[in-house]
Amino acid sequence: MSQSFDVIIIGEGVAGLTAAGLLAKKGFRTASFEQQLFGGLILNINELDPAPAGGEAGGAAFASEMTGANADAGVTSLPEEVTALSPADGGYTVATATGSYHARQVIVASGAKLKALGVPGEAEFEGRGVSKCADCDGPMFQNETVAVIGGGDSALQEAQVLTHYCGKVLLIHRGNAFRAQPHFIDQVKNNPKIEVRFGSTVEAVLGGQMVEKIRVNTGSGSEEIAVAGIFAYIGLEPNAAFVPEAVQRDATGRLITGDTLETALPGLWAVGAVRSGCGGSLEDAMQDAKHAAEAVAARLQ
Ligand code: NAP
Repeated sequence: MSQSFDVIIIGEGVAGLTAAGLLAKKGFRTASFEQQLFGGLILNINELDPAPAGGEAGGAAFASEMTGANADAGVTSLPEEVTALSPADGGYTVATATGSYHARQVIVASGAKLKALGVPGEAEFEGRGVSKCADCDGPMFQNETVAVIGGGDSALQEAQVLTHYCGKVLLIHRGNAFRAQPHFIDQVKNNPKIEVRFGSTVEAVLGGQMVEKIRVNTGSGSEEIAVAGIFAYIGLEPNAAFVPEAVQRDATGRLITGDTLETALPGLWAVGAVRSGCGGSLEDAMQDAKHAAEAVAARLQ
């Protein structure tokens, strides 16, 4: 199958949904692609902090609302993984497993995924105590002890979420200070259910049928700690494997753009978590999308 659009947006997280909606409302033939569920990383967050206007009911409701509005505006939403992107006929060809699509302008809004710890047992116990979603899986750990790994906004926010269900949350951080926003640090300090372990790293996840314990390097040796669940929030890695190598990446693999958010390839733009230099908040991702959508609209006139 081959279809042609004015603009294609790759990714239906908040950045992609914002850009697609704006461009469709301006009358451009707009398609957006998503390999999983619309909403990206916020889909798993019940309480957005800070909540954008319309986001008070949580991430899934917010993304669902945007997706509905995009359909009404005429966005063609394609539930497919983009496997390749290449310059063609003054624009770009976007390839998926089932077809190829052409657009004059392409916005990469493919976001990022949670990084894995990469320790023994982590992959083996996925879904059996190893989780990536505090809001979805927290209720399975009523009154149990779980471990959260990391020292940024995600780890501190999700540790707080888990205290709604768990008896105790061990917050294990390799450093000696958090790099999260001050209000998350205050919440953690004042939550009696959270026990912080600084200067510690997880070496292995252990268990039988389910996770039973983790082996932690405390800096002065290894210690086995009984936990029923483990949630690693140690940062994000960008989803950019399909983007041509001619687009430069920073040291973390994020795409480098100029001030207008266009990459070195004319007509190819990057917004949100996949873009080098985008701040980590929802507001930052939406601002990126608005900025690029305006520039793309001007280019398409
Ligand atoms: P992050 O800010 O990159 O923090 C990752 C944390 O994991 C750091 O504390 C880091 O330690 C630690 N870490 C990294 N690799 C590790 C490893 N291999 N083993 C153990 N620890 C490791 O990631 P994030 O918290 O997911 O946040 C990502 C972005 O989203 C940020 O811009 C953040 O501000 C934003 N965010 C915002 C909100 C909000 O506004 N509500 C919520 C969540 C996320 P070091 O500190 O030692 O490097």
